[in-house]
Amino acid sequence: MIIHLKKGITSDQAEKFAEELKATRVQHNGTTILVTTTENGKLNGIGRDLVEKVYEFDSDIQLASADYMVSKREVAIGSQKVGGNLNNTLVIAGPCAVESAELVEKSAKFLKDLGVNALRAGSYKPRTSPYTFQGLGKKGLEILDSVRSRYGLSIVTEVKDSSHVGEVIEFADVIQVGAKAMFDYAILEACGKSNKPVMIKRGFGATAQELVQAAEFVLSGGNENVIICERGIRTFENSTRFTLDLSGAIYLKHKTNLPIFLDPSHGIGHAYGVPDLARSCMAIGVEGLLIETHPDPSNALSDSSQQLHHEDFKVLFTSLKKIGDAIGYQVV
Ligand code: PEP
Ligand code: MN
Repeated sequence: MIIHLKKGITSDQAEKFAEELKATRVQHNGTTILVTTTENGKLNGIGRDLVEKVYEFDSDIQLASADYMVSKREVAIGSQKVGGNLNNTLVIAGPCAVESAELVEKSAKFLKDLGVNALRAGSYKPRTSPYTFQGLGKKGLEILDSVRSRYGLSIVTEVKDSSHVGEVIEFADVIQVGAKAMFDYAILEACGKSNKPVMIKRGFGATAQELVQAAEFVLSGGNENVIICERGIRTFENSTRFTLDLSGAIYLKHKTNLPIFLDPSHGIGHAYGVPDLARSCMAIGVEGLLIETHPDPSNALSDSSQQLHHEDFKVLFTSLKKIGDAIGYQVV
């Protein structure tokens, strides 16, 4: 249940009421909002005179619910905006990992020349095996920083665990919370205290509801700039790396007020299929696409099989714009 308190309620009154209801307190544009778990049931008359408006839900998708906020939340990423009523699709591209300054330089130049505005590359890499490349850590962030200002690109980079969450929050234009970090509550809590855009990727064993609940942690912490990203879930199918849940993405698009990004690269896991899947993603009408591209994919230090050659990405990017034209979305 979400309760908007009347204007002019003192902080003491709000705190006492929140305690009675075991509610989380959130401030939004001068309004105090209390959020309780749906299991706490109805208001039962207590504190009624403090209440401006009540919203009831049948699940703990609350602040993120399309029933609470009919229009999508608008999120600014650098000079681009997504969400609201804008019908913008931000294409975020680049290598899986920051491997070297040369790779990032080459990628930034290629993307900027093409008209892409956001660069993705992970510096803290959450790898399944401890024996593979784990990322360059802080040094990688410094490399990304040097291209951000020179090329005017927004940087999307991931936080792997809470040991470096502050560093990534301070550095990134979009803080990427990876599929394996989706349930790391220290990360979610830290992101809630920031006002930077946070993109939470769906864990491959998480339901759509669980993904939104991860977003609720950040929203209820006070950060309204939350994006959720479908990147594939594990199913019985093993001919592709994961199964990109487009049905789930459409569910999220209609039932939540959050901008939706899709990641066809991790979804299918093989470069041959990324253009087809990326075009399918574009056709749904979403706020962003995350696509891995590398100047020399076969020698990439992570996710080598799914990264597109720059030339293939170029062709794909042109076709995405045409799909956008057909459905009334603009690639930004
Ligand atoms: C990535 O974007 O490179 C990545 C590691 O993604 P995910 O967390 O979805 O596996
Ligand atoms: Mn990757």
